[in-house]
Amino acid sequence: TLTAAQAKSMMIFVSAAMVEAKEIMCEADRNIGDGDHGIGMAKGFGAALQELGNQDFTDVYKVFFTVGRTMIKEMGGASGIIFGTLFFAGSKNVEPATEIGIKEFTTIFEKALVEIKAKGHASVGDKTVVDGLEPMVDAMKKNAEKDISFEEILKIALDAATAGMESSKQFVAKFGRAKTLGERAIGYPDAGSVSLTLIIKAMLDWVN
Ligand code: ADP
Ligand code: MG
Ligand code: MG
Repeated sequence: TLTAAQAKSMMIFVSAAMVEAKEIMCEADRNIGDGDHGIGMAKGFGAALQELGNQDFTDVYKVFFTVGRTMIKEMGGASGIIFGTLFFAGSKNVEPATEIGIKEFTTIFEKALVEIKAKGHASVGDKTVVDGLEPMVDAMKKNAEKDISFEEILKIALDAATAGMESSKQFVAKFGRAKTLGERAIGYPDAGSVSLTLIIKAMLDWVN
């Protein structure tokens, strides 16, 4: 299980790691887009880091809610909504919980996928974060009923998200700046899918 205090500690760790990863994310976006992805993400996670530090949490969902809402508010633009929704969709309008298991953790990402697809109208193959997130959620759902640890479900998630990110290399972008590059974006992964793997990797690093 993941308690509220653990979720806070994990998301502080993840947010700090994402602020550190600013240049990696900019570089990924430079290859396929306008190169600003890391700037927005570092700003959003930096603000989340501060918000988390200012509060004590008894509800696990409130931790993810705080991160998501802060990212949406601070980042602005499409990617602010997309990555804010990653944490926000599954943590709003839910009953508070002092701790959650891997099933509830999986549901957070499942709801995020549904809402990101509804808001952004992207499917797998459009060279967006959906390329990483959809296979990740599918893999998590296949294992969410099993008696496995957070570490194991995160490894499963990271493997699937990484494979999805790799597959995004072959696609031409349909959304965002990357679409203006057309065929020249082939060979480079989607920047948002890169960020997703960094987020999950940081969660796994926190567990270990
Ligand atoms: P911008 O494209 O405005 O410069 P960023 O560079 O911060 O914003 O983010 C780009 C990333 O956002 C893309 O790599 C992609 O993963 C994600 N993204 C953009 N549009 C969508 C969308 N409609 N659906 C899902 N993800 C999207
Ligand atoms: Mg960009
Ligand atoms: Mg931009």
